[in-house]
Amino acid sequence: MTEVKLNRRLSERVQNIKPSGIRRFFDLASKMDNIISLGVGEPDFVTPWNVREASISSLERGFTAYTANAGLLELRKEITNYMSKRFSVDYNPETEALVTVGASEAIDIGMRAILNEGDEVIIVEPSFVSYVPLVQMAGGVAVSIGTIKEDQFKVSADQIEAAITPKTKALMLCFPNNPTGATMNGKEMQEIADLAERYDLLVFSDEIYAELSYDEDHVSFASLPNMKERTILISGFSKSFAMTGWRLGFVLAPPDLLAAMLKLHQYSLMCAPSMAQYGALEALKSGMDDIERMKQSYKQRRNYIVKSFGEIGLPCHTPGGAFYAFPSIEKTGLTSEEFAERLLLEERVAVVPGHVFGEGGEGHIRCSYATSMDNLEQSVERIGRFLKKIK
Ligand code: PMP
Repeated sequence: MTEVKLNRRLSERVQNIKPSGIRRFFDLASKMDNIISLGVGEPDFVTPWNVREASISSLERGFTAYTANAGLLELRKEITNYMSKRFSVDYNPETEALVTVGASEAIDIGMRAILNEGDEVIIVEPSFVSYVPLVQMAGGVAVSIGTIKEDQFKVSADQIEAAITPKTKALMLCFPNNPTGATMNGKEMQEIADLAERYDLLVFSDEIYAELSYDEDHVSFASLPNMKERTILISGFSKSFAMTGWRLGFVLAPPDLLAAMLKLHQYSLMCAPSMAQYGALEALKSGMDDIERMKQSYKQRRNYIVKSFGEIGLPCHTPGGAFYAFPSIEKTGLTSEEFAERLLLEERVAVVPGHVFGEGGEGHIRCSYATSMDNLEQSVERIGRFLKKIK
């Protein structure tokens, strides 16, 4: 390992965390013109008007104070109703639900609530880039295991079992997955649930893309028999409700875990922004048609991108959910970093190199198809030209 010179003004824990590999690309891309970006992981829809209006109205009515630490009770009730209706999980809004500042905060306080120094969390990768640093910031050790395209980026119980040690405290799952778009069905999840029970593991289930499951209904991990008591279920409004900038998420968990998370949340954040909570309330009350409309639009774009990538010689498994394609670039002989950098500089298409998502990510690029059809068509043309050139 290379010797790192530590700055005594900063904590060793922070200095040991690697900067995000995505940043460099966005910095590079932001200095260039005429870029088509398939880089960012957020909806291209603006939040539906009635949701914005509800938030504006809360301000007009002067609702500008702190809410309850756990979030407006009315909102928590809507969240638990919604989760029960949509995903067959039943939670008590008073003791098992917490409104957070994005799913990001939910992951952070979840890790901080359960980890002692040196406890291990198995992270199924390729994955969202925050999991590993958040485990490390909480004093834990992230143990990465990779998934591969040959398995449609699903993880097996055997793979997880091989990574379990006496220090394993929890497992991090995210299906539908960022960046692979992989989904897991009930039977596949059940095998992991059996393992969690056998080894007494806690399971983080990041289900922020649950509504964006195109081919099969999403199965919530907490809905499997006996899993609710060991699951920290994370979700939010950013993706399916097109509300990334509102910074609103939620976590559902058994009362002891939730109380610990609430303690962290109340000291570091007090509560999620009130105007965002009023918007979210409206989103849950009337947003189901909007979700469906956006989902159908993403599905259409998914079908287009997978087919078109195949036609230009960029093999891509069919992602069952989220809004990312994760094609293989192995045949090009370039690393994902080289591919993404050259594609950006030579054809002005921004994608994310797969290696930033951890184990199993190298040999792939992440392309977000949450952008206009026009942009998608143009990027397919540009990527096709690039592939011909590097042949
Ligand atoms: N989990 C996953 C898998 C994500 O992709 C993201 C956003 N990219 C988040 C959590 C964070 O979402 P939020 O905006 O709610 O913090």
